[in-house]
Amino acid sequence: MTTETAPQEFTFQAEISQLLHLLSHSLYQNKEIAIRELVSNASDALDKFRHISLTQKEYEDDAELGISLEPDEESRVLTIRDNGIGMTQDELIQNLGTIAHSGSLEYLKQLGEGSKDDVSLIGQFGVGFYSAFMLADRVEVLTRSYQEDSGWRWESDGSGQFTIEAADDLERGSQIRLHLKEDLTEFTQTTRLKHILTEYSTFVPYAIRLGDEHVNDQTPIWVEPKSQVTDEQYKNFYGYLSKRTHEEPLWHLHLTSDSPFQFHALLYCPASNFELMGFGKDEHGLSLCAKRILVQNNCRELLPEYLRFIYGLVDSADLPLNVSRQALQDDTVFRKIRKVLVKKVFNHLEGVAKDSPDDYASFYEQFGSTLREGVASDFENRDTLAKLLRFRSSHGDDRAAVMSLSDYVSRMPEDQKQIFYVSGETLSTIEKNPNLEAFRSRKLEVLYLIDPVDEFVLNHVHKFEDKDLVSIDSSEVDLLELESSSDSKDGDESDDKKSGPPEGFGSVLNLFREALGDSVEDVRESKRLTDSACCLVNPEGAMSAQLQKVMSRASDDFELTKRILEINPSHPLVQHLAGLSVNDEHTAFIKTCGQQFFANAMLAEGVVPDPHETSQRMMGFMQELAQQRSPIADA
Ligand code: ADP
Repeated sequence: MTTETAPQEFTFQAEISQLLHLLSHSLYQNKEIAIRELVSNASDALDKFRHISLTQKEYEDDAELGISLEPDEESRVLTIRDNGIGMTQDELIQNLGTIAHSGSLEYLKQLGEGSKDDVSLIGQFGVGFYSAFMLADRVEVLTRSYQEDSGWRWESDGSGQFTIEAADDLERGSQIRLHLKEDLTEFTQTTRLKHILTEYSTFVPYAIRLGDEHVNDQTPIWVEPKSQVTDEQYKNFYGYLSKRTHEEPLWHLHLTSDSPFQFHALLYCPASNFELMGFGKDEHGLSLCAKRILVQNNCRELLPEYLRFIYGLVDSADLPLNVSRQALQDDTVFRKIRKVLVKKVFNHLEGVAKDSPDDYASFYEQFGSTLREGVASDFENRDTLAKLLRFRSSHGDDRAAVMSLSDYVSRMPEDQKQIFYVSGETLSTIEKNPNLEAFRSRKLEVLYLIDPVDEFVLNHVHKFEDKDLVSIDSSEVDLLELESSSDSKDGDESDDKKSGPPEGFGSVLNLFREALGDSVEDVRESKRLTDSACCLVNPEGAMSAQLQKVMSRASDDFELTKRILEINPSHPLVQHLAGLSVNDEHTAFIKTCGQQFFANAMLAEGVVPDPHETSQRMMGFMQELAQQRSPIADA
């Protein structure tokens, strides 16, 4: 039985024990980030209390909200104190005993115990508090919730357990008492602590006191004129917002407006995309302030979701301070600010794309995949987004070069009405696609889509500068137009092309149709092939082959659209078959060839036809050829 006064013992969630082991044995040198994490938690607790005191009358309070660091060199204890919301017993168990974000630990484990660098990212993964064990071999948390009259004492040495007992005579808020490891006395030295606070916590919007000194006493940079803010300050503020102190942002935007409404904003684009690094959706929002007072952290509604990689802060005197999230979103000024921000981000990106294409390419490599989502979700900005997309294409010799749809259109012959694209798994499978022949011989540019998402995206763009976007394997490809645009380019088409299909070609098509039955939608003459004997195309309105492949992998129920087998009438083999077709004796042979044509067309696209049937047929052909060549007569 536990009495009210005896400490009650609890066991950490298994993941936490592992995490603590990892942190306390970490070789990571940069231990001061633990201070940053604890100060940041204190600041959050103050934000929460401020919000409550502004919105709930019974908790109104004029006392200054602040944070203090209290080092005690003699007993080797560093206390970090705030007068924020505090925690109840249940909250202590929940918040400091379990881990909210299950992905975090996985990530940290991957880093391995000896990791030196990336532990600096812990703040991002919601394990901030536990970093205390990088500095301390024993941690006490003394806390009183704003809802209670007395408080609690939590304690742990970072092994598997923690204890909680009642504690009287506590002010509202929390004190985190770090019993520092033996070799870490430096964390009780004022100069050292001041240095850390200046580096990491200058922008905390509450007074931070170290002894009698107020260490973060300065005007926030976002309200300063641009000319007065140094690169160093911009970078430090980025570090504060993003907790990515190890990297410089790719770019920043400092915006100020006085009318029709007043606001300051500072937006940052990180250098790398955490989502691409496999950390799941990297969701964070902007900090929203009204007259420098934080209204909301992680306000995701200030930018559309496809710009979720941007960090930043928005401060407007015209925003209401004490309203709910929902009411805020309905606020006219809020919605207008959002609109301006989106527009400014687009303008900036367009500027970078125009003035420094290489910088834009690195941006696109990191965030292109996130940005592309906007094409499907943001109808209003679809055209602007379409201009920001980048693709590889058949143009030029540099296979890695990327281009925009506008580049493509600027190179189009005048009478070309469609923008062509082809998708495939790799650049080399794409380049071998027989469907490309017609475009190559007519010198028509084709966009190469290697990422299946790109095709979804283009389906959503649908039209660019009035030109339809069409997959080259679609029967919507405008063949007549193709021919005329090739005529207008160069008239060196070989004569046999224009002379029409050979005699007997119609019978070959009929026999192929009979042989293939339901496996194809139709068999018909190709106007697009020059070298290959056959290819598969899609009936009107169908998804491209590549997209269908992706869909069928995603769902067992997905039914593939039947394709059209196109036959090149000028191919020598086809001409031979046409010659043979006048004689009924060859009917069976031509039909078997039809099946093999179909199998070959699939193989050309990287699709495997029935292996058993196909190899049997090949054996048959070889047998026949061998027989013809062999001097030994069949028995
Ligand atoms: P995070 O801050 O990312 O949620 P932490 O592990 O740092 O993760 O903290 C866990 C939780 O503990 C916080 O979400 C908060 O609810 C609570 N907490 C931590 N420090 C304090 C504090 N000084 N005052 C009140 N609550 C706190």
